[in-house]
Amino acid sequence: MSKAFGIGYNPVEVAKTVEKIVATEIDGEVARKYFGFASTKFYGGSATGYVTGCNLSCAYCWSWKANKTFIGSFYKPSVVAQKLTQIALSKKHVYIRLSGGEPTLVINHLLQVLDYVKAFGRSREMLFILETNGIMIGYDKLIAKKLSEYSFVIARVSVKGCSEEEFYMITGAEKSFFNLQLQAVKNLVDNGVKTIVVVMLSFCNKESFSQLIEKLTAIDTAMASNIELEYVKLYPNVLKRLCKKDLKPWIAIDPIKKEVVKLDEFNKLCRNRA
Ligand code: SF4
Repeated sequence: MSKAFGIGYNPVEVAKTVEKIVATEIDGEVARKYFGFASTKFYGGSATGYVTGCNLSCAYCWSWKANKTFIGSFYKPSVVAQKLTQIALSKKHVYIRLSGGEPTLVINHLLQVLDYVKAFGRSREMLFILETNGIMIGYDKLIAKKLSEYSFVIARVSVKGCSEEEFYMITGAEKSFFNLQLQAVKNLVDNGVKTIVVVMLSFCNKESFSQLIEKLTAIDTAMASNIELEYVKLYPNVLKRLCKKDLKPWIAIDPIKKEVVKLDEFNKLCRNRA
């Protein structure tokens, strides 16, 4: 994976710009744009709200179009919490989650959603999975401190690549921001938030992967048992974008055939598209 490295964008600055577009105040609450709510099969069944807007531009993001075009409508946290808990109750799900974009943008919205879940008396029977790229939690450690007040939150930090260079290739962001993802893990662990690290392995090499594991276990020796590996899923629009960017996973998953796709096969798929 040899590529020239550009400067890349600053995802903290992008976050500030995106927040202005995807947040507004309604009746004294911080509302955020969502492009849907659904019961999904993730984690064995979870009530899911799809937030609009992200501060990264991962080459394999399935929701990139929604995030770039800012589709959706504004929802108050009280309504979001109501929808999520109602879906979970009706489907007997334990898990509720936000997906689609980055939930830590507009942090006061997220905190208000958590407050309402608690106020509705659901925080003992439900778990909130916070799927995050970690950038803002690494940038502002107060976020981790605030999250620690909600014992029903489990953070899943999705680390983009295993090194600064792989992070840049995947996201196009300035490579040093990779380290904010690791800082996020540290901030969460230091504040006692249950944390799982999800590593996108498809673009890592052996060396960068082992270095990442060393860094994560240096943060917390118990972290080794809380690391999950993820492989890029070649949905048609993801395949198209990876081929166009010449970004090649050494291993991927065909989500339709449910098969493993190795590099040779991936190259063939790209050639067939051309
Ligand atoms: S961090 Fe997640 S939502 Fe944001 S671009 Fe990457 S994959 Fe998409």
